[in-house]
Amino acid sequence: MAYDPENIFAKILRGEIPNNTVYEDEHVLAFHDINPQAPVHVLVIPKGPYENMAVFGTEASAEEQAALVQGVAKVARLMEVEDPGFRIISNNGPDGIQEVPHLHIHVLGGRRLGGMLRRPSE
Ligand code: AMP
Repeated sequence: MAYDPENIFAKILRGEIPNNTVYEDEHVLAFHDINPQAPVHVLVIPKGPYENMAVFGTEASAEEQAALVQGVAKVARLMEVEDPGFRIISNNGPDGIQEVPHLHIHVLGGRRLGGMLRRPSE
């Protein structure tokens, strides 16, 4: 599927929609989720036009891939969840319940997060 340049994170990257930035570098932007599911809920996204991890993992440069992983680590440190711990989630595609078709890593923490998965009916 082709990348949709009108998705909301593409608009954030173009500065058309505001965001609450936590961290930014050449390849990565991290910002607070607008609907936080935990005391810490930050989204880490690549700046390139990658819809999901499958595309990013095959088409992004090694530098971009490394920067995303490093961005997650930097966010965990900046948000002070590195030591008590945190969870990263990336929803991909329809079964993954991905709402925004631009790759994003959720960084969640600030409390005990409970079990990892729930069934859709729960
Ligand atoms: P996903 O369901 O994994 O695609 O997650 C999309 C996430 O983007 C959700 O957690 C939303 O709350 C979040 N979100 C949507 N619009 C914005 C926005 N303008 N700024 C920050 N987070 C957003």
